[in-house]
Amino acid sequence: MAETAAALNEQSAMIRQTAREFAEKEIKPIVMEYDESQEFPKELFSKLGGLGFLGITFPEEYGGAGLSPLESAIIIEELARVDPSTALGVAAHNGLCTNHIFLFAGEVQKKKYLPDLCSGKKLGGWGLTEVFSGSDAGGMRTVAVKEGNKWILNGSKNFITHGSVGETFVVLAVTDKTKQGAISAFLLEKGMPGFSVGKKENKLGMRSSDTCQLIFDNVRVPAENLIGSEGEGFKQALQILDGGRISIGALSVGLAQGALDASIKYAKERHQFGKTLSEFQGIQFKLADMAMEIEAARLLVYNAAEMKMRGENITLAAAQAKLFASETAVRAANEAVQIHGGYGFIKEFPVEKFYRDVKLLTIGEGTSEVQRMVIARNLLK
Ligand SMILES: Cc1cc2nc3c(=O)[nH]c(=O)nc-3n(C[C@H](O)[C@H](O)[C@H](O)COP(=O)(O)OP(=O)(O)OC[C@H]3O[C@@H](n4cnc5c(N)ncnc54)[C@H](O)[C@@H]3O)c2cc1C
Repeated sequence: MAETAAALNEQSAMIRQTAREFAEKEIKPIVMEYDESQEFPKELFSKLGGLGFLGITFPEEYGGAGLSPLESAIIIEELARVDPSTALGVAAHNGLCTNHIFLFAGEVQKKKYLPDLCSGKKLGGWGLTEVFSGSDAGGMRTVAVKEGNKWILNGSKNFITHGSVGETFVVLAVTDKTKQGAISAFLLEKGMPGFSVGKKENKLGMRSSDTCQLIFDNVRVPAENLIGSEGEGFKQALQILDGGRISIGALSVGLAQGALDASIKYAKERHQFGKTLSEFQGIQFKLADMAMEIEAARLLVYNAAEMKMRGENITLAAAQAKLFASETAVRAANEAVQIHGGYGFIKEFPVEKFYRDVKLLTIGEGTSEVQRMVIARNLLK
């Protein structure tokens, strides 16, 4: 692997090594099997839980591994270098559902839900997006109406990672239709009457990641399952997305690095015109540009992770890191297929899958257009 220049301390370097070895040994051999079947790799996620990768940054008192945001980025990067789908599940479980509970739920809720999430005994999902509201998440139609000591939830959520395999969900719903942005967050458990899983999506990439619709038909949610205060859900969600964007940035860096590693290997092996591809300057320049952009993306992602670690506002840094890293990954995956020629188009070579998986990264957790809106808003405020 073309190594990063970013300096890591001893612990972070060891975590990178552990994640890399795990990905090479446990994930690489089964990647294409799960991609083809679109089955969720449950056993693999139990192993990830055993390593602490399903509770990466959460304190040990809740069963977490107590690692830093930078170490979280490194783990996601290393998993994505081998399988972006697995990395997506790890990023969503940690950064969306579990982090929402950790940052905003009360102590009783944290003690009840976090240990099972951090160990991987239960997987988490986070429901913001709906059929009619994606980028404009505030336009959601799912409603929660208070009735005594319960909230009655009606509506649906779309494209929810871990929709069918997850057991604990954070769901955003409108709690006052008369007020703009009066949205609240609720803790839902699989098995609550009226809470069901709809269509499982048949996807272009990230195929072993479980993406489903969630349906709420008069779900009676106990009042104590409200997360934080009524009406604060949207603000909470925006903060969760800031952190999530660092994870998607890290995933993008890992995917791009995987595409570059495969391209270097292939360019050294493949002969045309009596030379290896790596001897042609046209190919060398592609590799050089890929490596330079990936390193720049990595530094933006690590910088945002370190800002998070210091408790600074990360809205701008996370949007810039996610936008640059995801668009870098799209270019890297594209060039990797080009360098492989026809072999890049067939499933025996990993770049074929990178090329399919990568497109989610400029869409999920805020599209590239939304990141530009966030960046511009920060510049002009
Ligand atoms: C595999 C997968 C997993 C996902 N997991 C989750 C999950 O776990 N939880 C969850 O809540 N959601 C999840 N999502 C949803 C994801 O976050 C949304 O798809 C994304 O936010 C975009 O919303 P949309 O698909 O409705 O697109 P739209 O918002 O309809 O956007 C369509 C296009 O219009 C552009 N656009 C929209 N508004 C503007 C504007 N004002 N200016 C310029 N361009 C604009 C967009 O950038 C995009 O290019 C997932 C999606 C996928 C595909």
